[in-house]
Amino acid sequence: MKPRWLSLLLIATLSFTACSEAPPQVHKAKLFTLGTLVDISVFHQEKAAALQAVTIVETELETINRQWHAWRDSPLTQINQQLAQGKTVTIDSTSHHFLQQAQTLAANSDQLFNPTIGSLIEQWGFHSDDRPDGAPPSKDRIDTALKQVPSMANITLTTTTLASNNPAVQFDFGAFGKGYAIDRAVETLKLAGIKNAIVNAGGDLRTIGSKGDRPWRIGIRHPTAAGVIASIETDGDESVFTSGNYERFFDFDGSRYHHIIDPRSGYPANDALSVTVIHHNAATADAAATALFIAGTTQWPQIAKQMGIDKVMLIGNDLTIYMTQKMAQRIHLEIDNTQIKIIGDET
Ligand code: ADP
Ligand code: MG
Repeated sequence: MKPRWLSLLLIATLSFTACSEAPPQVHKAKLFTLGTLVDISVFHQEKAAALQAVTIVETELETINRQWHAWRDSPLTQINQQLAQGKTVTIDSTSHHFLQQAQTLAANSDQLFNPTIGSLIEQWGFHSDDRPDGAPPSKDRIDTALKQVPSMANITLTTTTLASNNPAVQFDFGAFGKGYAIDRAVETLKLAGIKNAIVNAGGDLRTIGSKGDRPWRIGIRHPTAAGVIASIETDGDESVFTSGNYERFFDFDGSRYHHIIDPRSGYPANDALSVTVIHHNAATADAAATALFIAGTTQWPQIAKQMGIDKVMLIGNDLTIYMTQKMAQRIHLEIDNTQIKIIGDET
């Protein structure tokens, strides 16, 4: 039989735990990294555990930012230098995983998501913390860059090495790194026992669980006006990513040039205003939003299918909204008077 003092101690411990249990609350942290403001919100009972997990996530995001930064001196810029000299680069298993995922996504997108066109992105002036200022690159320079046709198909990966058979390959993971980083952040939160959270990097995000008794609710920015065009309630573990022509751009001689470059033409893609994707994995959603933006109003259903994406909303230049059936079931449009085209049910 249990001694009486042990029973009393157990009761005392239990009641202490019960008294000290605060109701779950949202614990928030904000930091500037990955080129944007990142907002981490954790809905959790124990404040100390939540804050500790968030601190680990902050360090992790900053490490990924430093590793893959395309224009500040970084391990990535060193990789780019070595590849330009035709050298084989030694990589660790984390980099291998990152590069392999990017290579698969690029292949599935028919290389529309092409993270090897860093030289072209630099020529357009987007390798800078500031808005580009001046003329777009000349047609000659763009044509020269296009003739070199760098793509992820030029890359050979082993678990420890990276090689390219095209010296024009210059990595820029601006369309994928944020998604990859958000996936790592969410995995870390899950490992720390967090079941309800949102990691939001400038409107691109992944959620887990819910915000108490309500789902996490997200606004999708209107591409040409202030405010939101639609909202989405996430269903547990889900990512929502949007690529838009309003994110980074410059104006020259009355024309607007933005940061999503069609690797086929060398110019900013011009057949959409924005694309929103819902998918389980954030890295996939990130690469897909960019690829589908480039694919435009006619090609997006095919590329979405190849990339395994079934929830897409593309807003065309005339504000027509193209959607898959599955996206239509999930999205709440916040505007009237717009033309909506629901595309196929096989996507
Ligand atoms: P954002 O991160 O601004 O929401 P995206 O995810 O679409 O938007 O990424 C755009 C960034 O990706 C650009 O700033 C550039 O660094 C890079 N990029 C541009 N065009 C391509 C492309 N065709 N394939 C891969 N990356 C691209
Ligand atoms: Mg992207």
